[in-house]
Amino acid sequence: MADAQDDALRIVLVGKTGSGKSATANTILGKKVFESKIAAEAVTKTCQTASRKWKGRDLLVVDTPGLFDTKDSLNTMRQEISRCVLLSCPGPHAIVLVIQLGRYTEEEQKTVELIKAVFGEAAMKHMLILFTRKELLDDQRLSHNVEDVDVKLRSLIREFGDRWCAFNNRSTDQAENEAQVQELVELVDKMMQDNKGTYFTDKIYKDTEVELRKREEVLKKIYADELEIEILKVEMECEQACKESIQEKERKIQLLNMEYEKKLRNVREEAQNNIFSQIFDGIMKLLLKAFHLFKN
Ligand code: GDP
Ligand code: MG
Repeated sequence: MADAQDDALRIVLVGKTGSGKSATANTILGKKVFESKIAAEAVTKTCQTASRKWKGRDLLVVDTPGLFDTKDSLNTMRQEISRCVLLSCPGPHAIVLVIQLGRYTEEEQKTVELIKAVFGEAAMKHMLILFTRKELLDDQRLSHNVEDVDVKLRSLIREFGDRWCAFNNRSTDQAENEAQVQELVELVDKMMQDNKGTYFTDKIYKDTEVELRKREEVLKKIYADELEIEILKVEMECEQACKESIQEKERKIQLLNMEYEKKLRNVREEAQNNIFSQIFDGIMKLLLKAFHLFKN
């Protein structure tokens, strides 16, 4: 399973509530997986992930809630950053800052500062901007608009190595949607080339990946032991009862094997749940470094 993860292109979407992260995730995934709508309150409450096969590659998207729009921000942030790290392990290839065209605010600046504080400056090499509501401007006006924007956004675009693209998440045209995904993937590929072909990683990600793998091994051993015991039980029952036919015994064992296979397929997810509290503790120390961001 770990190998399947290794050739995935992991994309984390960040930005404020309402910017269009979930809609963008759906465009990337090619279908409506996540809920996306205008609402007074955040619709996406917790990090979520889904993936798709696209031109022979696994695109894994992590959709996140806006981190600066909740009252209990410190604890929520701690929880969501922990979840995000777990879901994007061993590290994201791209961290995409989703901005609604024409709406660059303090919240986006804070999001970038938070990422820097927690993951370090190196994370900037893996960041890009994705503007939503592209349909509001034609291509020419779009470039113009992006170049012409306020000084802070322009300097952020420079900091991200001029990496940006724009999506119309309302498009129902399949070809347009494919082209948008293509544009994003090309941007990520180009960024990866600049980053010597690797994804972003740091101590948090490395430690988390080690813990995840350890936990996966422990779980696999538990599943295998359980399977062995369950098969033995079936065989004993069959011997004692003598009623059950060989076919019935084989059917039961086949079911046990199927259950085992299913557990193996979900072992990563189970390991993520198991080690959550460990990550949660570690993230707190890093968040304290970014304390200034939480003051209004
Ligand atoms: P999130 O909070 O960042 O996940 O934002 P959502 O994905 O829930 O989107 C908020 C609202 O913006 C929804 O009503 C979306 O339909 C709308 N939206 C997102 N992207 C676009 C876009 O490209 N064009 C238009 N017109 N609306 C969009
Ligand atoms: Mg959302």
